[in-house]
Order: sequence, then C-alpha cells, then structure tokens
Amino acid sequence: VLLLFVQLAGFAQDSKIPSSVKNVESKVDSILFMMTLEEKIGQLVQYNGSWDLTGPASEMGNKQKEERLKKGLVGSMLNVLSVDATREAQKLVMENSRIKIPLMFGYDVIHGYKTMFPVPLGETASWDLDAMEKSARIAAIESVADGVNWTFSPMIDVSRDARWGRIMEGSGEDPYLTSLVAVAKVKGYQGDDLADSTTIAATAKHFAGYGFAEAGRDYNTVNIGEYELHNMILPPFKAAADAGVATFMNSFNTIDGTPATGNKMLQRDILKGDWNWDGFVVSDWGSITEMIYHGFARDKKQAAEIAIKAGSDMDMEGGAYESSLMELVQEGRIDESLINEAVKRILRVKFKMGLFEDPYRYTDSDLAKEISYKEHREVARDIARKSIVLLKNENNVLPIKTSVKNIAIIGPLANDKDSPIGNWRAQAEPNSAVSVVEGIKAAAGKNVNITYAEGAKLGMGERSFLMPLEINKTDRSGFAEAIEKAKKADLVIMVLGEDAFQAGEGRSQAKIGLAGLQQELLQEIYKVNKNIALVLINGRPMEISWAAENIPAIVEAWQLGSESGNAIADVLFGKYNPSGKLPVSFPKAVGQEPLYYNQQSTGRPYSEQHVTFSSYTDVGKEALYPFGYGLSYTTFEYGVLQLSSEEMGENGQITASISVTNSGKRAGKEVVQLYLQDIVASKARPVKELKGFKMIELAPGESKIVEFSINEKMLEFYSANKKWQSEAGDFNVFIGGNSKYLKKAGFTLNQ
Ligand code: BGC
Repeated sequence: VLLLFVQLAGFAQDSKIPSSVKNVESKVDSILFMMTLEEKIGQLVQYNGSWDLTGPASEMGNKQKEERLKKGLVGSMLNVLSVDATREAQKLVMENSRIKIPLMFGYDVIHGYKTMFPVPLGETASWDLDAMEKSARIAAIESVADGVNWTFSPMIDVSRDARWGRIMEGSGEDPYLTSLVAVAKVKGYQGDDLADSTTIAATAKHFAGYGFAEAGRDYNTVNIGEYELHNMILPPFKAAADAGVATFMNSFNTIDGTPATGNKMLQRDILKGDWNWDGFVVSDWGSITEMIYHGFARDKKQAAEIAIKAGSDMDMEGGAYESSLMELVQEGRIDESLINEAVKRILRVKFKMGLFEDPYRYTDSDLAKEISYKEHREVARDIARKSIVLLKNENNVLPIKTSVKNIAIIGPLANDKDSPIGNWRAQAEPNSAVSVVEGIKAAAGKNVNITYAEGAKLGMGERSFLMPLEINKTDRSGFAEAIEKAKKADLVIMVLGEDAFQAGEGRSQAKIGLAGLQQELLQEIYKVNKNIALVLINGRPMEISWAAENIPAIVEAWQLGSESGNAIADVLFGKYNPSGKLPVSFPKAVGQEPLYYNQQSTGRPYSEQHVTFSSYTDVGKEALYPFGYGLSYTTFEYGVLQLSSEEMGENGQITASISVTNSGKRAGKEVVQLYLQDIVASKARPVKELKGFKMIELAPGESKIVEFSINEKMLEFYSANKKWQSEAGDFNVFIGGNSKYLKKAGFTLNQ
C-alpha cells in the first residue's frame, strides 16, 4: 500500500503513469484517488472551442474559460480545429493543471473531414460495408492530422420519415442494415486499437429514439412503446456498444414523456447495465439544460441532478454540471459516487486513446504532410459511384450511347459544386465538389457537344448552417435559355433535388418534392425534349411521382461528396454499372410518411381492391420505390428458393439457396437480400425483416447459387416476455433483389 502511495504521489508531480500500475482500471482508480471534487466535476464538462458562439456556457468569457483549462476543470472541448489550436488548449492543461488530465477534442466528422464521402444515407445505399469502413478510416486519418481525436459519429438513428431533415445522417429505415453500418463505422474510426495514432474515438448517437420524432419534425416528441424501442431502435446501438464504441451521445427528444438525457432506463439500466458497456455518455448540445424547456426540470441545478442520476456523464456546452454539481453534492442531493463513476468512464476512454502516454499525439503537424488527398479522392470517387441508385431506365436511355452527340445539362444543381458536400461538411472547402457539368465534360469524348443552363436558381441569398434556406419561387428568367438548349440536344441531363442546406439538423420539411421552380422547369423541358435522364442530388427520399411516371431515366445520386460529378459521370457513361440499393423507401406522396417496408401486419391487409383495407384511397400504401430497390444496366433473374430443411430444431440451422442469373448483356453486381417473417408470435411481427445480404458479381449469362445460413439467433426478437428470444412456429423466408419482389419458402421452428 505504501509503495502504491509513493507511486501515486510521484505521479501527481510529473503526471507519468507509474510503470507498475499496469492495467487501465488501476490507472483510472489511481488518478481518481488524487482528484478533488472540483477536478472531478471538471472532467464532466465540455466546452465549445469557437469562442464567440452564443449558448449557455459561452456566456462565459474566453479568459474565464482559459483559467478553467489551466486549473484542469475541463474534460473535453469541441470544435477546436487545427493542430495549433488543439496543441494550445492541451498545453494550457498539461503545463498548468495539478493532475494533468489531457483533453479530448470532439468534432462532427460525419462523412469525411476534408475529403467528403457520400452522406451516410447515400453511402449506405452502396451496401458495401468494407467501403464504409474505409471512408471512416480516411476521415479519422484526416481528422487526426488536424488535432481532432473524437468524432460525434456514426449517427445510427433508424428513421422512416423523409420529412426529417436528419434522415440523411443515418442509414435509413432498417435496424439490421444500420447495425452493420454502425459496426463498420466504429471499426473504421477506432481501428483495432484506440491507442493507434491514426484512430479517433467514435460516438454512437443519438441515444435514443431521435429518428422517430413525431411527424418528422426535428427535436419533436417520440412516442413509442417498449417493443418498438427494443426491436427497431436499440439494435444498432447494441451493435455499436458490442463493437467497442468509445462514447455514446444522448438526444434532444423525450421518449414516452422522459427526455433521453434524463432517461435512467436507457442510459443506466440498458446501456450500462444490461449491455455492460464501459464507455461514457456525452449529452447532446445543451441537452441537459434543455430539460428545463421540456418542463422536466425546474432549473439548471435540477437538470444537472436528473442527468447525472440518469447516467449522462459529460455535459456538452450546457453549463449545468459546471454550475451545479458541486452544490448538489454538498447538499447531499447526489452522492459523490455518481460523479466518481462518470469520471472513471471518461478517464478510461482517455487511457485507451493513449492520451496519458502522449497528450500531444494528435498534434503532430507532419502527419498532415504525409496524407495523400489525391488517394483519398480516388477512394471517395469509388464509394460515391457505388452509392448511386438507378431508379428507372426505360428505352435504355442509360448508359449514354455513343450515338449521342449533343448533351444539354440543365438544372440548378448541375453546376453546383457545393451541395454535393452536404450539410455536415467538417473542414471541406465550400464549393470543392466536382459538379455534374465538370464530371460529364471530363468523361465525354471530344466529339460530344455539351451545353449547360441553370434554368432556375434553387436557393437564394445566404446559405448557412443556422438559417433556413430561402427558395426561389418566382425567377424564371433562365427558363428560355434552358429550353433552347434542350431543344437542340439528343439527350438532356437534368440535375435537380435539394440544396445542401435543405436537409440536415433542424431542416425538416412538410413538402419533400422538387422545391421552388424545379418541377415546373422539368415539365417545360419535357415539352420540348422527352429524352431526359434525371439526376437527383438530395439528402432525403423525395416525392418524385410525376418524374417517375414521365421521365425515362432517373438516377438517385444523393449528396455524394467531393467526387460527386465524376462518380455520376462514371455511371451515366457506363464506366460503372450501378449497383446501389435504397436503404429507405421512396414515397408516392409525402402523406404516406412515415413509410417503411418492415411494418407490422395489420388486421385488415386484404387486397389493393378492397375498399376498407389499411391504405390510402388515393395513392395506395406501397412505396414508389421500396427499400432495397435499385436497377442495374443488366438484369438479374432469381430461380427457385430452396431450403435444406423445412424444420429447424433447437440451435438448428437451415441453408436457403437460390440461383441468380445475369440475364442481360453486361457484367454487373447485385445485392441479394434475405428477409424473414415470423408468422405468428407473442407480438404482431413485421411482414418481413432484412436478416442478411450478399453482394455478387456476375458476367453476362453467368449464374451463381447464393446461399444463406438461417439460424435460430436470427429468429429472435424482443418478445412479449421482454426478452430476446425465438418462438416456435412457422416462418417465411424471402430472397430477392429488393424488399418487394421476392421468392418465398417456409419452415417451422420446433422447440
Ligand atoms: C447535434 C449533434 C452534434 C452536436 C455537436 C447537436 O446539435 O444534434 O448531432 O454532434 O450538435 O455539434
């Protein structure tokens, strides 16, 4: 004991970890032992680095913040960018504070840092988990080179509502697919070892329910039951926790009347209890203090009390912990052990990140010089083209034929170099994406004549993160030029969709069609030239029923990041055969939202003809383009679905196999999807649920047998018993190239 004490005393002086204190837990304990209550509370405080932002903690002047950093009363900062700035802040702590606990520097690195990859919803459409891991890896490397060591990503909120502006930040409507993406992203950011100097800590967010905001209105109330919560919302978070994600972020919403930030059931019982996860939870921006607005806390002090009791470990820019925790302990309203636990969680992550060994390990300016942004761009182009979904292709408009000699590129997004970067753009330069016009010009041969007309502006005035975008609804002055150019063209490529600042946080929309004058422009062009390929650049599923009926070719190109235009040109000219599949349903009308394929069976399904079936009398209930859907320049035919057995015993396993043939003339990739349905159970079950997929590549005429192994684990769900378990009975198996047109078979689970 004496020896340990001597070591600790030495540690306090020079901040070197005694070499005999080997494992993380004892290191954490040894530091905690030396900390005053004030220092402990400091670890739970996160400051914003851009000093002039308004907000609760920003009311404090820079000087005051600096003083607190020097005293070691800050655990982390966000939005401090550049090696110099992070080094400066770290120095304040390391050279002045008593215990010298390094800071973590957090930032929203959502889909790239400088090199931008597709927005997460778009990238998920690639169904390529290796690619998604790789883009996270690259984002981590670029972040580290700027001193950032913690990203508030991946966002793994399952969302089914296209009105919600943040649907673009997640992986769509399916919990299984989102879970796999969550794991790939965590691996990409964190690598195998957080102490590796090119990795950054990841955050699973927003815990939980944020994507289920009522009516798709951001920050709105979430009303879901326990059954839905466990089966639809929590699986990706469980997957991230199991994958070792360093941190979680809670969320702004209430869920069943309780703010997520003050939710003990979510944070303590499930996350830290049942799942036994050992990282820490950071609040969302000011979400502790915001419990006052929820009418859940009287004042900051009560908000702090509720949050710490509920398991929120770090207060992001809310000032509640800093101002109130000390008093709360002194008054006996909270026990110091709650603070100890939160501090331990934070220290644990810092140790795992190797920050105690080298607090400046992220501030090596040479790292930036070693990065090949050119190489990163190449990867970005590849992932971008994999993320494109071909929605329609009649008359073989695409790929562009060599007989096409005159192409008119028209639309407000055609030469937009900014929107493809998306709303969360980290440190990407504005206007740094390759536009469609640039991409096509680079790809088309010399013999092709290319003209461009904007037609109509989409957004007007200032575009900013904080303000809603003003949309042009009246200025048609560019129509005439566009119409003239369309008349002369063999093929018109129309580039429409959304400005980057239409989707994202706080950007919910009640209308999800082509905003402003875009629809009118499309129809005017159609009057003079029907040979149109429509390219959509957008962050959410859009209402495009008119186009789907009239325009022969439609390409969903999302916000694809830095290499957008090149990736789109690769697909349009057939250099890349599209293979993306929708991770989210596209509606026929916005009134169908929320719309998702894995809905529960209703008591009145009947047929489309039946007047009283559970649908809409005007547009029906089916999606325009369903989950999992996407075409190729070739065609795939599915054979008979065969099962190795029609019975499954306990811990059993059945192999489902199907032959898939490339029945077209080009080599192509297909995402073969497996869905299961539990026909009768202790709760009404979804009509089908994705449980597996395989990406295959087939030469023209080639066939492959695709096999899926179905085991009992895959049949489990959070049942009426409030447990993950399978229930004996009959199951349907579906396999196909999207969630709608599927081959079917069945088996029985005996128990
Ligand atoms: C968002 C989070 C984000 C945080 C920090 C919040 O408004 O909801 O997703 O990580 O700000 O920028």
